[in-house]
Amino acid sequence: MSTLRTPAELAEAGLAAPEELAGIEAVAERYAIAVSPAMAGLIDRADPNDPIARQFVPDPAELATGPEEREDPIGDLSHSPVEGIVHRYPDRVLLKAVHVCPVYCRFCFRREMVGPQGLGTLSSGALDRAFAYIGGHPEIWEVILTGGDPLVLSPRRLSELMQRLAAIDHVKVVRFHTRVPAVVPERIDEALIAGMKESGKTTYVALHANHPRELTPAARAACARLVDAGIVMLSQSVLLKGVNDDPDVLASLMRAFVETRIRPYYLHHPDLAPGTSHFRLSLEEGRRLVAALRGRISGLCQPTYVLDIPGGYGKAVITPDSVRERDGCQTVSDFRGREHIYPPEN
Ligand code: SF4
Repeated sequence: MSTLRTPAELAEAGLAAPEELAGIEAVAERYAIAVSPAMAGLIDRADPNDPIARQFVPDPAELATGPEEREDPIGDLSHSPVEGIVHRYPDRVLLKAVHVCPVYCRFCFRREMVGPQGLGTLSSGALDRAFAYIGGHPEIWEVILTGGDPLVLSPRRLSELMQRLAAIDHVKVVRFHTRVPAVVPERIDEALIAGMKESGKTTYVALHANHPRELTPAARAACARLVDAGIVMLSQSVLLKGVNDDPDVLASLMRAFVETRIRPYYLHHPDLAPGTSHFRLSLEEGRRLVAALRGRISGLCQPTYVLDIPGGYGKAVITPDSVRERDGCQTVSDFRGREHIYPPEN
């Protein structure tokens, strides 16, 4: 089986009923579709609420954009000094070399940028400018490769990028944000790992997974190959209605990470991406779920619940004390101490 990319392929694989096709085709005109064989194989066709299907199979609800939703929900573009770089915090940058993913998540916060109609792959001139920017800013200690998914790049391309980072002394840490070890575990082979490590820097992988079923034996084996090669792994998950908004599911997910030698890191409140309101919970619901994890699972398994403040102000850690009420609105503070209303008034 190959990756499913069209409504017809989804129907043929038993992931869309004939009466759903028109709605899915309308979504396909606007947003990219990809369901990898590993994820298609995990979906229970008999369950209309399957949490894996909900993440990857388009839903006509995606065509309804709410007034609070925005094309660039976390303000990448307003913090992009040169194409492919996002410099939001002083000591680290995002390097977005590619805007292609092995799967397209229906709740993606960069859904307007990724996919065949997205921002594409950086040209060699743009890459030169991105590396010149990193080299010219000695305060950049960490480079985070994201996108898109950087592990769709070939070992040779990855190795070239890593060699360029190797030449920049002040960069000490390289981090990859990826779904590949879970959704295309067979890609994590010796050649890819060698390419990832070519910089010689301390290398981290943050694995994006949202449901414990994604940590299949093949996914766990792929992660073991990374960890055994000396790469440190962290988790990233998005809190999603109908996928993991249940304390038992979240507890199993965090335990599955720890069993796989992945340190739970961020649990993201869903962003205000267009057409994603059917995935979104309130901050109050999120806080209740996270509170339910305390006492239920080991301290090793506790994620940090964060909100990316709309507009690009960075992350706010959501704790019982960090969300305040002001004039009937909720506010959160950014890392500079500035207060922001959430959800923002448009
Ligand atoms: S893998 Fe990441 S960037 Fe790609 S569609 Fe999913 S959330 Fe978006």
